[in-house]
Amino acid sequence: MQGHKGKLVVLATGGTIAGRAASASDNLAYQAAQLGVEQLLAGLPRPVGFAIEGEQVAQIDSKDMDFAVWRALAQRCAHWLAQPEVAGIVVTHGTDTMEESAFFLQQVLAPAKPVVLTGAMRPATSVAADGPQNLVDALAVAASGEARGVCVVFAGSVHGAADVQKVHGYRSNAFASGDAGPVAYVEEGQLRVLRAWPQGGTVRAAGTLPDPGQWPRVEIVLSHAGAGGAIVRALVKDGVPGIVVAGTGNGTVHRALEEALLEAQQAGVAVRRASRCLQGRVLPHAGDRLPAAEGLTPVKARVALMLELMGA
Ligand code: ASP
Repeated sequence: MQGHKGKLVVLATGGTIAGRAASASDNLAYQAAQLGVEQLLAGLPRPVGFAIEGEQVAQIDSKDMDFAVWRALAQRCAHWLAQPEVAGIVVTHGTDTMEESAFFLQQVLAPAKPVVLTGAMRPATSVAADGPQNLVDALAVAASGEARGVCVVFAGSVHGAADVQKVHGYRSNAFASGDAGPVAYVEEGQLRVLRAWPQGGTVRAAGTLPDPGQWPRVEIVLSHAGAGGAIVRALVKDGVPGIVVAGTGNGTVHRALEEALLEAQQAGVAVRRASRCLQGRVLPHAGDRLPAAEGLTPVKARVALMLELMGA
């Protein structure tokens, strides 16, 4: 079917949305990443006037997301976004690392068209699977003509790549945007837009990402009561080029850990300071000894630092 409004492309990567259990009563034992993209789309209502093309980019549980899949996904997105007839892209993805992939894609694509990630908390074989509705909503957002940038559509809300976080391990409404709130809601296929769409990025263009084995290694360490410097010293010894510290509160770090991080920085390791708090941000101050990862959660600060360390 060739739609007169253009084409929507669905790039599938696996996750629970493509998950299957032996029986509907056995959902705890389900396997993620079992159904292919055509099975996900089969029987779904589609936005009128659009052709839909599915492509299987990967078939993984997103807890196992890696640089090879990220690079392939970014490159397939860049390929399709460059086609004039493509109005938008939907990416089906596991929920566990969806916020990292969304942030990564915004950074390397900075798309003027919508790139909409979605998934499910319950497998496709569940008696009340949430994947089909999330996918229908994601297609509606991609087809809306209003959306742009990388966002996550989940349980009727549209979250921007920079703010979205998975905040629950079981609820079907598992994503939130913290203080910022969602960008929009999807109601009966219609968008109610609340604020600006995601923009910015391209620290590094998708087409110039190095081979996965060449990506700089950035590790995350956590500040907590009784924290020490042993992990940081071991990482430095192991040659790590970048460390993100998930600090307490507004980015404070236990003095024993801070001492090791300052030594690491002195030795040439790039260090960024984020917060383990779910909301709020770490503000930079004149004289900061460890630079703040402004507004970014530790996992997103790690992506940003990796891209920065890839160099020109
Ligand atoms: N472990 C699954 C994944 O991230 C969870 C999910 O998709 O909800 O692929």
